Amino acid sequence: MRRTKIVATVGPASREPETLARLVEAGIDVVRLNFAHGTREEHAETAERVRDAAGKAGRQVALLQDLPGPKLRIGPLEHDLAELAAGSALTLVADSDQPGDAGRMSVSWPGLAAALEPGEIVYLADGSVRLRVESIREGESEIDTRVEIGGAVASRQGLNVPGELADLPAVPEDDIGQLDFGEQIGVDLVALSFVRRPEDVEEVRRHTRLPLIAKIEKPQAVEAIREICHVSDCLMVARGDLGIELPIEDVPVVQKRVIACAGEFARPVITATQMLDSMVTSSRPTRAEVADVANAILDGTDAVMLSQETAIGEYPVEAVATMAAVAERTERIAPYAAWNERRVHRDERDPAYTIAYNACGAVRDLKLSALIVPTLSGRSARLISAHRPEVPIYALSPGRETVRRCSLMWGVQAASMPRREVTEELIADAAGRVVELGWGEPGQRVGITAGLPSGRPGTTSLFQVQELPSVKVARE
Ligand code: PEP
Repeated sequence: MRRTKIVATVGPASREPETLARLVEAGIDVVRLNFAHGTREEHAETAERVRDAAGKAGRQVALLQDLPGPKLRIGPLEHDLAELAAGSALTLVADSDQPGDAGRMSVSWPGLAAALEPGEIVYLADGSVRLRVESIREGESEIDTRVEIGGAVASRQGLNVPGELADLPAVPEDDIGQLDFGEQIGVDLVALSFVRRPEDVEEVRRHTRLPLIAKIEKPQAVEAIREICHVSDCLMVARGDLGIELPIEDVPVVQKRVIACAGEFARPVITATQMLDSMVTSSRPTRAEVADVANAILDGTDAVMLSQETAIGEYPVEAVATMAAVAERTERIAPYAAWNERRVHRDERDPAYTIAYNACGAVRDLKLSALIVPTLSGRSARLISAHRPEVPIYALSPGRETVRRCSLMWGVQAASMPRREVTEELIADAAGRVVELGWGEPGQRVGITAGLPSGRPGTTSLFQVQELPSVKVARE
């Protein structure tokens, strides 16, 4: 069983039912619906198709709604393209629907002129084109810039300003509207782009009960990483925008810092962007890309993500298969002993932390073959996963949402089981369910966590060692 989770962005290259079925078979755990692209109808259809493919394959595949956040963009361009020469002048204007050119183009946010100061840097075309603001023509909302590093830009591409933009809404109203739509089509997780402060996450939290993933891609978010981690359910190292907003050489260092912080707070973390980028056009990755996936896993990431590779690439299925193979190989040499010892930020009165930590020791001492975790909220599974036991973690929950919530947690395989109010019944049924699912063999020694009173989240306080039963305990 592979422990590292795979997130795949579905787009034009992969949304046909046959391709989706092959992606599921190749091992995706989470499908990312990128709400910066595509129509609502397309996302709804993709969601339906993913559920269908996962159902047919008998696998759990969660849906992640990735909201674009306050992403700034340039407007349309004549012929959809402009070549910007180094040293030339370019004026950015708000409120213009006119197709732009190399001398003048529109921007999506009318507040940009008021938020910028002369001397500030603006990036276009994924950071490859650099502009420096020379003057702001007040009242006219026009920003005169000089092209410092030239290159080609395409219609509606992103625009990045690494500095703080006062008055830029943290959560655009569009994103809040998309949240309702996401819930209607049954998404399981929501990712927030361009988070800058913990308050940004808290604001969205007021509108949804779904787990929230804070995408770390702004310098301000890196500064406030502990506070953001504390209020989020999960983090994403969004290396694409991070590598524009920060010096590119900072990206690996920030990746390690974000992953370490997520581990400390027992939050799952996704490492994203350009992991197998050459597979957009090639059936084989580069050695450096393979090393990148392996190193992210050794850093302690829970999940690795494919973006363009599966959304618009020529080899979506091969990219997933490659990622799965690299993960499985890397997991064989992972530093489990050191990972087991890692202490998570804890509430000292809560036994769930102690049980999670010591479960790993029990696995080693007693040669257990799995840990079984009945869980209402998914929290116990998350705490155990943070300690990286060497054996599979089987999370069983009466809640569909919890089962899907586990989809990003390293080493956790989740399924449903009926709710039980009596602890002995809960333990017996959980063990029976693992045999029924074909996850464990009768007679294998396992550790099972449970809580008293059973049926209430956050009460895990028991650890029992037993052999898996030969027959499923049937009880209605
Ligand atoms: C990123 O910037 O790395 C990222 C994952 O976000 P997006 O693909 O939305 O730009």
